[in-house]
Amino acid sequence: MSPTPNTPVRDRLRIAIQKSGRLAEPARALLASCGLSWRESRDRLFCYGESLPIDLLLVRDDDIPGLIADGVCDLGIVGRNVLEEQGSERASLDRAPAFREYRALGFGGCRLDIAVPDGWDWQGPQQLDGKRIATSYPALLSRWLKAQNVDAQVVLLSGSVEIAPRLGQAEAICDLVSSGATLSANQLKPVTTLLQSEAVLAGPADALDATRGELADLLQRRLDGALRIRHSKLLLFQASRRVLPDLLPLLPDAETPTVMRLDDGDDLALQALCHGAVTWQRLEELKRAGARGLMVLPVEGMLA
Ligand code: ATP
Ligand code: ZN
Repeated sequence: MSPTPNTPVRDRLRIAIQKSGRLAEPARALLASCGLSWRESRDRLFCYGESLPIDLLLVRDDDIPGLIADGVCDLGIVGRNVLEEQGSERASLDRAPAFREYRALGFGGCRLDIAVPDGWDWQGPQQLDGKRIATSYPALLSRWLKAQNVDAQVVLLSGSVEIAPRLGQAEAICDLVSSGATLSANQLKPVTTLLQSEAVLAGPADALDATRGELADLLQRRLDGALRIRHSKLLLFQASRRVLPDLLPLLPDAETPTVMRLDDGDDLALQALCHGAVTWQRLEELKRAGARGLMVLPVEGMLA
């Protein structure tokens, strides 16, 4: 994004994250696992990056796409639901896309679902024709209704959407669901999903300038590593060459193992980076297939 004439060019990267709420702590923890550290400010709205020129802005999640669009922030960590809602709203107003999803971050998972009263015998979207649907996601819901060719009234509520049917404000709702406990507590059931959501790294639709672009690339490379090692373990073991064909199928999630010959004989030392869970059961299967001296090590860092 090109700076407006009076805006000085920034040579530090600024990332917006949620100040408090579901995404606040996991977002900070993820950035910290990428080696970022900050000096806390008194008002706790701005944190000055110490280890790298990457600062944090702590805001309401709903403000993040707009801050990116306005160039106040370079990147943001926000639910895909918020990003898509505001993106759809811009599109419906014929405004050019100003922000986009860079990558999913693997936390804050939830769905944007249509839910109807428990007693309804759900036949499909056409059943919503002529009904009122309460939601905080009017743009996504309207887009979906249009695609389904359903004529329903969108009732905009900023919170407590799930009680709208009991209050007589709507017949159905369109809301975020994770466990479904809130829905069932309100005698509602999910019937269809409009969007699978999770926290994402968002940034401007246009490229950043060179300095901040480099910082953003560096952060993304570290994020790649941090996300890949989340569930990764290094598996060390020995085995005879003969049993390799039995062992390798037990490591479907492993990168090609490093194989070292132990002596002139058939004995090998192997090291395999596994990206799935290395359970006791799996270790026992490997042992039965001929692996010896199995050792599982945590992975602290990875840079591809
Ligand atoms: P803010 O004060 O920042 O506006 P908020 O009340 O809008 O906070 P939270 O309830 O903290 O936001 O939710 C933030 C994000 O967490 C959601 O936008 C969504 O992406 C994700 N999320 C995950 N599970 C759920 C859930 N069950 N209900 C609502 N949001 C969820
Ligand atoms: Zn919010």
